[in-house]
Amino acid sequence: MTTLESALVRKSPLVKRAMFKIRKDLCLACGRCAMTCFRGAISLEFGQAEIDQSRCNGCGICVDACAQGAIVNYVPVSKEELTQTVSDMKLRTEEILRKIEALRK
Ligand code: SF4
Ligand code: SF4
Repeated sequence: MTTLESALVRKSPLVKRAMFKIRKDLCLACGRCAMTCFRGAISLEFGQAEIDQSRCNGCGICVDACAQGAIVNYVPVSKEELTQTVSDMKLRTEEILRKIEALRK
C-alpha cells in the first residue's frame, strides 16, 4: 500500500469500526491468542477460539500471537455504506492529485 493509499484508508470512518474475528477454518485451538489477550476477550469454546467483542479494544496483539494467521481484521459494513466510502475516497484522491499537480506547475 502506498503512503497516499494508507493515509486515505486511515481517514476512512469505517476504519474506526474495524474489529477482529477468528477464522474457524484456520484456528487450531492452541490457546496462544487467549494467553496473549490482556483483556481476557478470547475464550476457547467447542474447540475454537472466540472473541468477545464487548471486551476487545482492538489492540491487535493477538494477531501476532497466532501462527496460523487465523485472527483477521474486518469491518462490519453494508454494501451501500461501502459504496459511499469508496466514492468518497475516490473524490479525496482526485482532490489530492489535483493539489499535487498544481504544486508541480
Ligand atoms: S492462536 Fe490462532 S490457532 Fe491458536 S487458538 Fe488463537 S486463533 Fe486459534
Ligand atoms: S485485539 Fe487486543 S483486546 Fe482484542 S482480542 Fe486481540 S488482544 Fe484481545
